[in-house]
Amino acid sequence: MRIETKCVQSGYTPGNGEPRQIPIVQSTTFKYATSEAMGRLFDLEDSGYFYSRLQNPTCDAVAAKICDLEGGTAAMLTSSGQSANFYAVFNIAGNGDHVVSSASIYGGTYNLFAVTMKRMGVDFTFISPDCTDAELEAAFRPNTKAVFGETIANPALTVFDVERFANAAHAHGVPLIVDNTFATPINCRPFEWGADIVTHSTTKYMEGHGAAVGGAIVDAGRFDWIAHADKFPGLTTPDDSYHGVTYAEKFGLGGAFITKCTVQLMRDFGSTPSPQSAFMLNLGLESLHVRMERHCENALKVAQYLEQNDRIAWVNYPGLESSPYHARAQKYMPKGTCGVVSFGVKGGREAASKFMQNLKIAAIETHVADARTCCLHPASTTHRQMNDAELIAAGVSGDLVRLSCGLESAEDLIDDIAQALAQI
Ligand SMILES: *Cc1c(COP(=O)(O)O)cnc(C)c1O
Repeated sequence: MRIETKCVQSGYTPGNGEPRQIPIVQSTTFKYATSEAMGRLFDLEDSGYFYSRLQNPTCDAVAAKICDLEGGTAAMLTSSGQSANFYAVFNIAGNGDHVVSSASIYGGTYNLFAVTMKRMGVDFTFISPDCTDAELEAAFRPNTKAVFGETIANPALTVFDVERFANAAHAHGVPLIVDNTFATPINCRPFEWGADIVTHSTTKYMEGHGAAVGGAIVDAGRFDWIAHADKFPGLTTPDDSYHGVTYAEKFGLGGAFITKCTVQLMRDFGSTPSPQSAFMLNLGLESLHVRMERHCENALKVAQYLEQNDRIAWVNYPGLESSPYHARAQKYMPKGTCGVVSFGVKGGREAASKFMQNLKIAAIETHVADARTCCLHPASTTHRQMNDAELIAAGVSGDLVRLSCGLESAEDLIDDIAQALAQI
């Protein structure tokens, strides 16, 4: 099946007389005839459902669709993009370990890594996605366990050189984890360029209607944990908290990462998505391919309008030919990038804030990738924890306005911007 068909069809195939739409299995628990039958599930000898904190049929069907869209071997849903990134990293990096991360990442992920996971004993080195080979090489340590980046960074819109970072990660015997939220598998499939694990905030384009927070983790099933067994004891030695199972042996390269992440991290932290939210996510996925095309088309038209407007200081959109990331975007996402455009309004912070107040269609929201156009001033909201130097490293300037182009008419969006600029 082509990706458009997968959006509609993957993950759930009803049998005779069964519901056409994915049933919402709104049940915390599942019944068994004998304790022995249930015991085999606890021993991971049989697969099946026993408690929705670990697994639920609705959530699994939607995870299977996302797995298929990315071209992975196993996937799981989480209750948010934050928990997806936390689980994906913590599954292989704990106290005393180190991770190399792109500095150009979502503010919430930066906090998670630099503050909260640091308190858990995981050290991060943040490097520019455009660093030199020498800088990249120098970032690795003997205790490095993973490399992390975002295909299109939120909000800096830098495009990550997936192939280059995958090669560097693999040369050091560690996997590359890529957050593919902004590009979505419609526009970019990081596994085709060497990434090993893909994460998503499904809250964004995947669900796409601003209705349900969620996340997903997908494994390409290619990273050879056993070949680097000394680095990944959690996958290659018995787990005493799970009846001595060794995940890489029992579930193979295709299943080890997601199984461990589910039965260990989801069991203990419980960032479980609700079946209702998973159902809504699936409704979004059914039209993801149609919506992404329109989001990208609108964003390109808006970016081109802004670029020729003399009240605008600069425009950043990887789909623009003037973007330093245009060539890289053409390589990794030839069909389009995303619906988010960032730009600076002449007059700096004050003019930017006045401009945003004047907008009538675009609403001020801490959100992106919604069917409805919205905008945000990152320096005073999502990135306010960062000092000036950290802001610059993350590619966020004080005058930056992030505009997430929705599915409205591009002409209406441009008229709205024109009237808001005229009032400054
Ligand atoms: C929003 C976002 C997240 C966090 O996801 P939530 O669903 O809000 O928890 C992570 N990564 C990126 C790139 C995001 O845009």
